[in-house]
Order: sequence, then C-alpha cells, then structure tokens
Amino acid sequence: MTDRSVYLDHAATTAVDPRVVDAMLPYFTEKYGNPSSIYSLGREAHRALEQSREQVAAILGADKREIIFTSGGTESDNTAIKGVAWWNRLKSKGNHIITTPIEHHAVLHSVEYLQRFGFEVTYVPVDRDGVVDPGDVEKAIRPDTCLISIMYANNEVGTIEPIAEIGEVAIRRHVPFHTDAVQAAGYLPLDVNKLNVDMMSLSAHKFYGPKGVGILYVRRGTPILYQQSGGAQEGKRRAGTENVAAAVGLATALTISHDNLEAEVQHASRLRDRLIAGIEERIEHAHLNGPRTNRLPNNVNFCFEFVEGESMLLNLDMAGIAASSGSACTSASLEPSHVLKAMQVPIEIAHGSLRMSVGRENTEEDIDYVLNTLPGIVLRLREMSPLRAGQESWGSGDSHTEHTHQE
Ligand code: PLP
Repeated sequence: MTDRSVYLDHAATTAVDPRVVDAMLPYFTEKYGNPSSIYSLGREAHRALEQSREQVAAILGADKREIIFTSGGTESDNTAIKGVAWWNRLKSKGNHIITTPIEHHAVLHSVEYLQRFGFEVTYVPVDRDGVVDPGDVEKAIRPDTCLISIMYANNEVGTIEPIAEIGEVAIRRHVPFHTDAVQAAGYLPLDVNKLNVDMMSLSAHKFYGPKGVGILYVRRGTPILYQQSGGAQEGKRRAGTENVAAAVGLATALTISHDNLEAEVQHASRLRDRLIAGIEERIEHAHLNGPRTNRLPNNVNFCFEFVEGESMLLNLDMAGIAASSGSACTSASLEPSHVLKAMQVPIEIAHGSLRMSVGRENTEEDIDYVLNTLPGIVLRLREMSPLRAGQESWGSGDSHTEHTHQE
C-alpha cells in the first residue's frame, strides 16, 4: 500500500468543484423553497432554477424552454429515445431506430427495451478506431426510421463522432437526431445548432458538477411523448419537484467548464499524450484503442496483451492509482467490452484493456508516477499469466491498422 493517490477515472465521475458546492449550498438551507410555491421563498427557488436553465441554454445556443433538467445522463437518454419511439407508436408512424454498437448502455438497453415492443433497430458499424461513417447512417435510413441516436464521444475509447455531419444527414432526411454528449461536455463545443442535433443528453458529474442531475435538450417541434406523469414541472415534460440545488450546481459547473474550455483541453491533452507516449515507450505489446488524433483530450485506453484488465486494476489500486478496465468485467460477467468488440479487437486482447481518464487536478508528476508503476505491474502479471504460454503477439503494437480480424 502507498500514501500516494492518483485519480485517473474522470470518465467515471469527477469531484465537485468547490465553487459549485458554494453555489449549491444556500439551496439546501436558507433558500429551500419549492419552486412551485407562490410565496417569496418559492419564487426565489423558481428564479434560481430558471436562471440555471438560461445559463445552460446560452451555452448550448438553445432557447431556455428547450432545456429539461433530469436526474442524469441515463434518464436523459431514456427520455429521448423512448419518448420519440412512443410518440411514433401513438401516431402509428415510424418503427425503426438507428444507433451504433458502441453506445453507452443507457442507449443500448433503451433500444433493446423498445425491440421487445416491436421496434426495429439498425446498428451502424464503426471502424477500428470506433468512428461512425455518416454515409453508413444515411444508407441505414428507411421510410419508417423515426430516430437516430449516436453518441458525441465514446466513454471507453474517447472516439469523437462526426456529429455535425450525421446531423446534416438527419436534417436532409427529416429524421430526429439525438446525441449522448455526456463525455463530450467540458472538452468539446456544445452548440446544438452547429451540431445539427434535435436532442442532446448531458450529465453534471462528468464535468465537476454533482451526481444525479443532467440535461436533456429537446429542439422545439421534436415529436416526443414524455413518460413521467405527475405535476406540471419542467413544462409538463418531467413531473416531480425540481432539485434546485442540483440544477444550480449543473449550471455553475457547465459555465466554469465552458469559460475554461481551451485551457482544460490543453491541460488534459498534454497529460494524455505524455501518458500514451510513455506507455508505448516502456511497455511492449501495448495497443492504443481509439484514434490517435480526434480523441477526447482526457482519454487513454490501451490493451495489454497477456494480461487481464481486472488484475491490472487491483494492482494499480494497491499503488494508489484509480483507473477502469473499460469493460463489463466488474459486474462479474466475463464479457469483454462491447465497444472493443465492435471495433474488432480480438476477444482475448480486449480482456486486457485499461482506461485511464485524466482531469483538472492531475499533474505531470501523477502521470510520471503511473509511468513508473504500470510497467512493473504489467511485467509481473505477464510472468504469472497462463495467457502468455504459446501465444503469438497481436501485430507489432504500433498501429490499429494491423488488427487481425476476429471471427
Ligand atoms: N452516457 C455516457 C456516454 C456515459 O459515459 C454515462 C456515464 O458513465 C452515461 C450516459 C450515464 O450518465 P449518468 O451516470 O449521469 O446516468
């Protein structure tokens, strides 16, 4: 065990910025009114909520009435996808949804749920870097296509998708377009008009805001049937007493991220590139997953041959380093990551994946500590590994174009 601790799992969640905590605190104590109440305590809460909505809308280039506060990315994805599907079912219209195999489970499980009710789903393939081709999206569109849902940036491998181009296709073919921008926020521009999206999901805890609050942007006129019944909150689109403190926290965190976007991108990409270069220099049979350029500034994801992701995580944890295997292994399932599978990374190699996502508080010393620790761990695990014996290495380790196909 060590006293040193290096948090490299910002794609999982981030610490709440102290300025965000300060902005939220009064709404738990002296400003605790219900925004629906008509006396001044309620009106004060209502004002804070609407001000937060305006702040978010300005950053997204949206109208404030197009912003719905939700409980996070998962709810936003569910609301968008099921909402459009159920509107179409109600009107006996489109029955077909287009998405990709590399989406977050909040999207994948939502479309799987809809399949049980007869909706049909096309998964547009990705290339070996995880990139979707807008031409393939266009080819997948059918007369009964009612929704396209494609993520802005991938949470495991950091691939940035050509959202504006896919949006052009969607506009031309009159199909509503949703993007899960949960991982993009804080690093990529979020202007919904430049991105050509009709719906967009965000989650505050990925950009130094609190957990349990998100945004669903819904362009005016988007055909959608909202699911949550009850009071008239959020313009009758999401019933339930609003979480004012969380909304204030989200708006504050998004504003801070937006105001410092360039510096954040520079800081994260410098650390990311140092980590990637260091790993490639010090560890053989290491394969970078996802694109070398056009990837999220905070994302590093490698497959290490002849090692098991979970064992690496446990060893890193003992050295004070928090990372992620980027696969479903933690849930006791031995399935490798669906994202790596879709990128045609061979199954036995996909089991040795490691995601490290840097953030605001990380330093070059943190990265150097990881670079001094990780090679020893990989070496030790390889020496003990039954995977090693009699196995060929997968390519020369320097390029994704050398991947062999997996049957
Ligand atoms: N979508 C993506 C791409 C994510 O990375 C996550 C969180 O990991 C979610 C959705 C779910 O967001 P939340 O944790 O706010 O429900």
